[in-house]
Amino acid sequence: MDLRYSETDEAFRAELRAWLARALPDLPSPPARDDWPARVRFDTNWQRFLYDAGYAGISWPKEYGGRDASPSEQLVFLEETTRARAPYVGVNFVGTLHCGPTLIAEGSDAQKTAHLPKILKGEEVWCQCFSEPDAGSDLAGLRTRAERDGDHYVVTGQKVWCSFGHIGDFGELLVRTDPDVPKHRGITWLILPMDLPGIDVRPIETVLGSSEFCEVFLDEVRVPVENRVGDENDGWRVTNVTLSFERGTAFVSEMVDALRMAEELAPDVHDPTERRELAHVVAELDALWALTKRNVSQAARDGSPGQGAFMLKLAYSEARDRLGELCMRVLDRAAFDVHDERVEERLRTLSIPIAAGTSQIQRNIIGERVLGLPKEQPWAKVP
Ligand SMILES: Cc1cc2nc3c(=O)[nH]c(=O)nc-3n(C[C@H](O)[C@H](O)[C@H](O)COP(=O)(O)OP(=O)(O)OC[C@H]3O[C@@H](n4cnc5c(N)ncnc54)[C@H](O)[C@@H]3O)c2cc1C
Repeated sequence: MDLRYSETDEAFRAELRAWLARALPDLPSPPARDDWPARVRFDTNWQRFLYDAGYAGISWPKEYGGRDASPSEQLVFLEETTRARAPYVGVNFVGTLHCGPTLIAEGSDAQKTAHLPKILKGEEVWCQCFSEPDAGSDLAGLRTRAERDGDHYVVTGQKVWCSFGHIGDFGELLVRTDPDVPKHRGITWLILPMDLPGIDVRPIETVLGSSEFCEVFLDEVRVPVENRVGDENDGWRVTNVTLSFERGTAFVSEMVDALRMAEELAPDVHDPTERRELAHVVAELDALWALTKRNVSQAARDGSPGQGAFMLKLAYSEARDRLGELCMRVLDRAAFDVHDERVEERLRTLSIPIAAGTSQIQRNIIGERVLGLPKEQPWAKVP
């Protein structure tokens, strides 16, 4: 295991730093949180900007327009863009971080040609229609059904917590195509054009006062069979491909950001107990950063990040929670002034232990797959 960056990585860092130093000063300021047309424009322009400079699809194969960067170069990319406060991937995150890679791994040639170039250039925004009111942690319990009618699936049901559903051009949709087999075996993965008749998208207001999440109601929506990714009833396998991309890269930028936040907070921390608390969190974040590098090093060697990946999100969620709480205490920002950057940050990060798999579920996974404890007994039937 070698946790140091190679000469090639450092050369890439220097090139990227120089580009960011040239590019960022000319960027317009980010728009207000609830100005959705401006947000879409800003984020998709940034995506196009990355594309033109050769940095879009950093992990995608060159064949599909990506950069095919090594895992350690991807870390360098996330480190440098976060430190330079470059725009985050924003509304393009589903498309670029996990839908594009899913289509590369599982899509048909027609699906790849239709979507991959547009995702990379910021011309298509994607959202994820996985969760349902009774299918979050237990995603395989989903009930939205799809019945085959000639060359279409007719889809009826309800999705929830669909980030950017109100501005998405396409959705990653999971449906139940066979209710009579054990629940993991009757699911299919479909590309959902969000403008089809029968789709009703209703934004949900968050504690920050913006509407990033949506409920999506589907009433006899006719989705062409050619939009199916993978085989009928093979959607659980395809979903795991999608989720592995989602979980693989999700927290690197967040971690760099948390370390920067801790550095900025340090001069304001005078109380000895609070200084110890801050030092403790920073030590934990440093250790997690070392674990991230270890995972990357192991993935480069064995093709899989190993068991460390299971622990990363859980430990990071807890450290980030303590840092956010300390920050509010030190700066005495108890009030819910959502226009204060620190309060906004605190409220936003409360979702980290829930998004992409809750902490309780991470603990179950660590118990079963890392420690070898007896397995939880899942119920096999769709409710
Ligand atoms: C910021 C954010 C963005 C999101 N974006 C999307 C999106 O774009 N698309 C999408 O489809 N979904 C999205 N989600 C939904 C997310 O995937 C779900 O919230 C998550 O899977 C948890 O499901 P749930 O909310 O239904 O909670 P539930 O599954 O109802 O769980 C409630 C509580 O019970 C616990 N629990 C449940 N089962 C077990 C068990 N077996 N053992 C121990 N504890 C258990 C959970 O850990 C949790 O604490 C997003 C969520 C967040 C917070």
